[in-house]
Amino acid sequence: MKSTGLCILLLAALVVAGQAKVDYDTWFTDKTMRVDYYHTGTARNEFFSLDQVYQEGEWPGSRVNLADTLNLGKYLVKVFDEATGRLVYSRGYCTVFGEWQTTVEALSGSVYRTMHETVRFPFPKYPIKLVIAVRNRQNEFIDTFSAGIEPGSRSINLEKRDLPWKTEQYLDNGSPKKKVDIVIMGDGYTHKEMGKFRQDVKHYTEQLFNSQPFSSRKNDFNIRLVLVESAESGIDEPHLGNWRQTALGASYNSLDSPRYVLTLANKEVRDIAALVPYDQLYILVNSTRYGGGGIFNWYATSFTGHAEGQPDWWADYVFTHEFGHSFAGLADEYYTSDTAYEEFYAEGIEPWDPNITRLLNPAQPKWADLITPGTPVPTPWGKAAYDSLGVTLRSWQRETPEYIMIEQQMQRLLADANSLAQTGCYEGAGYMATGMFRSAPDCRMFSKSLTPFCLVCQRAINRMIDFYTR
Ligand SMILES: [Zn+2]
Repeated sequence: MKSTGLCILLLAALVVAGQAKVDYDTWFTDKTMRVDYYHTGTARNEFFSLDQVYQEGEWPGSRVNLADTLNLGKYLVKVFDEATGRLVYSRGYCTVFGEWQTTVEALSGSVYRTMHETVRFPFPKYPIKLVIAVRNRQNEFIDTFSAGIEPGSRSINLEKRDLPWKTEQYLDNGSPKKKVDIVIMGDGYTHKEMGKFRQDVKHYTEQLFNSQPFSSRKNDFNIRLVLVESAESGIDEPHLGNWRQTALGASYNSLDSPRYVLTLANKEVRDIAALVPYDQLYILVNSTRYGGGGIFNWYATSFTGHAEGQPDWWADYVFTHEFGHSFAGLADEYYTSDTAYEEFYAEGIEPWDPNITRLLNPAQPKWADLITPGTPVPTPWGKAAYDSLGVTLRSWQRETPEYIMIEQQMQRLLADANSLAQTGCYEGAGYMATGMFRSAPDCRMFSKSLTPFCLVCQRAINRMIDFYTR
């Protein structure tokens, strides 16, 4: 009995392995298929509708890892060969719409919004069924939208989009097929500010590659720039009444959160990004006002430089922190800042994010293999003292000298805790003071500081680099 069971198990493993590995050349051409669609709804109710299918340049992603094995993101795009029903490509991702769904406005159920979105995958040789699955409250993917696409259809847009913007390869480590290809575009940089854009790219990518694990894996990355120019300098600040005409439409106060920088001009962003091969999108905004954003497999944004009276490393921190979100699907580990979200993580459900956990089974933590034997779980740290400083902090206006002083005290407390800490399960993470855990007292995803990524975050980043490059 035992050996038969083993045989069946082995056979099952082979079938799964056979399913996972799709021969690229059998199913795909060298090009990229881009599908634009509209995503409409409320928090509980959503619809997708097709906009336009495009053929774009060379597929920049892996030709080996086509089916997603990482199980990250709120959405999963799946591409099936129509004739055989075989899954030939899948990828997890998040969107601005998905974040908006956790706000008061969306939860009210009376306000519908529509956002424009894009999925990209290798250009199929044969007719496909495109499926978008959405996680339900139990975090299971539910097929929500499907569309048949004929690769030879005359409705596929083959237009050459000849935009006036120059492109440059800033970091070249070889063929896009085996590298993580980042495109960096500036928003709110005028024609005269292209020199500043290049300097900003140099400075902030140096910060990224100064942090582990990016520093050891620099050879796995390519960086290309699109020198897109904006008519006006700076980006929109709706709460101050400052509206600026920019190429990519980036704005502060996104989802009504002052420091959240996003753009909803998805079509423009995608058209411009497609001037170069890219896996990951980064939008640098030409503003010294604190802000940024990062959405998994969507894009990251960061402010640049520093305003008077602000420490000069704030943007260094933000640039790398946001890339942690957009590249590796890392969650915010902090819980003391105000955010726009009402119910970001469903109660009693383990989040998919690799670096936070509900610790539903303390005997078997999510990152059990990284925990030093003998470390108590949950793991004590100076939480009571940290939280009481947090209460005082909130009585001061952001960025006043008092506020900054208390922030520094909190930072010292974290640094002390971190220097003694083992990987464990520390309570307070994912915007929640209780019931959610992180793996270290401090991490680049926790405090506003140049603290390194914790070991759990580093492993998640390494896995993602491996997925693109191996
Ligand atoms: Zn971390």
